[in-house]
Amino acid sequence: MYVPETDDLRLRVLRYKHDHPLLGHFGQNHTLELIRHEYTWPGIRTYVKDYVKSCTACARAKTPCHRPYGMLKQLPVPDRPWNSISMDFIEQLPSSSGFTAILVVIDRLSKQAIFIPTHDTITSTTSYRSRRRTRVRDHRDPQLKVRPTSTSMPTPLPS
Ligand SMILES: [Zn+2]
Repeated sequence: MYVPETDDLRLRVLRYKHDHPLLGHFGQNHTLELIRHEYTWPGIRTYVKDYVKSCTACARAKTPCHRPYGMLKQLPVPDRPWNSISMDFIEQLPSSSGFTAILVVIDRLSKQAIFIPTHDTITSTTSYRSRRRTRVRDHRDPQLKVRPTSTSMPTPLPS
């Protein structure tokens, strides 16, 4: 039976075939198979796929396919100031003297922070040069650098 695109008929068919308590939230292929026994419409495969993908009950019940996450490990306590630093960017700021971002370098032991004006288009090499020019010249090179995982920098910082 052809299902027209009116009055949410297609959605109601999907709700009946996928969300029905007796049918029990089958996967994309099985739901599609169940619906195709009785109904059809153009683009039915994509419609069913998108619906099942967005089903919150299925997402909650889905078994993870990856190994369990490991235990979080605390970073070692630095033995001297500026031996271990963390860095992050404050980006997309209004332009000030041509700078549109701030590189924040924090000493993990003393919590002393240094704010280096920079650009949104900074690369790892220019970041390294900025740090060398601004703060690191006053201190020894840190042995441990901590950065957030979601950073716009494409490559790791040179040591
Ligand atoms: Zn579901």
